[in-house]
Amino acid sequence: MNTDHLKQEIIDYSKDIGIDKIGFASADVFGELKERLRRQQSLGYQSGFEKGSVDERTEPERLLPESKSILSIAIAYPSRIKDSPKSTKDERRGIFCRASWGVDYHVVLREKLEKLSAFIEEKFPDAVNKVMVDTGELSDRAVAERAGIGFSGKNTSIITPEFGSYVYLGELITNIPFVPDKPLADGCGSCTKCLDACPTGALVQGGQLNAQRCLAFLTQTKDFMPDEFRSQIGNFIYGFDTCQVVCPYNQKVDFHNHPELEPEPDVAKPKLKPMLRISNREFKETFGHIAGSWRGKKPLQRNALIALGHYKDVTAVEEMIAVMKNDVRPVIRGTAAWSLGKIGTNEAFEAITEAMEKETDEQVLFEMKKGLNFQQEFSTT
Ligand code: SF4
Repeated sequence: MNTDHLKQEIIDYSKDIGIDKIGFASADVFGELKERLRRQQSLGYQSGFEKGSVDERTEPERLLPESKSILSIAIAYPSRIKDSPKSTKDERRGIFCRASWGVDYHVVLREKLEKLSAFIEEKFPDAVNKVMVDTGELSDRAVAERAGIGFSGKNTSIITPEFGSYVYLGELITNIPFVPDKPLADGCGSCTKCLDACPTGALVQGGQLNAQRCLAFLTQTKDFMPDEFRSQIGNFIYGFDTCQVVCPYNQKVDFHNHPELEPEPDVAKPKLKPMLRISNREFKETFGHIAGSWRGKKPLQRNALIALGHYKDVTAVEEMIAVMKNDVRPVIRGTAAWSLGKIGTNEAFEAITEAMEKETDEQVLFEMKKGLNFQQEFSTT
């Protein structure tokens, strides 16, 4: 079998179906990654969202016993919103990180990978393939690095020479022994912009991330956000991409190759106040198709409350008081109380004091006390 010819046919076909870059890697064990993951695990640096054991994540054979090669694909996404709506004093807006703009990339990439798989099977009926996007066991980034899609930056993103790091990655494991492509050389050099810009020190050192301090991860948790990170998320309600924004490789890239990945301005930068009262049905209709909805509405509403506090949005006080008093979810009531304290109007403090009389949840009461403590800050400034 002439795999070189098939490889070229696959490369040509990938362009036809809108894949921006494709690379071929061996399906050998990811030995270095295995060691790194074990280290991350022992340090408690993982997010908890990882799928599968370390062995499954680093040994393609465990996922497809006949695996010989892995095809890595990259799809470029936009870095700027055309006609971006402005946040005004009366109507503050939050923002989803770039990787959550447009239709959920899992859907978009999976569709392309399925097409690619069907194409390969048509050309080579004995092919056995398995496709994966992000939620699979394999590390998209390790595969992409090995397949020469990009180099692994100090911010842990894969940086392509063509599209910077604003690319979605997916892969297809196959039993066809393709000649692998060569990995790219490291391109960070002495640059440390991402490490310097990370507000929480989550980038422990070049290429090593403590996910427990990474704001992108913390915006997706469902419990109370630890205090030290609340002032740092700003108006991000999902994800956080400052370590990519500052990267020199991303300064002039803004690709709009895929209509389905185009950000809808009012979804990518939603008004914050309406998010507080959004029904499940409205949430599904408005945000259900984007990647940032995967954890449901609670984390986004919690983050919206923190963002309103960050803005000191006095126009939101009335609605936030209603949330603090009536929402059935303690995380939401407590965060509303904390953010009301941040805003610091008399009305806000009075409402917290009043709500404390009826509140029975210990954690919410704790947040209410923290909210009231801001009063001292206001009286000393
Ligand atoms: Fe590498 Fe600099 Fe980009 Fe960080 S900001 S990933 S150090 S090039």
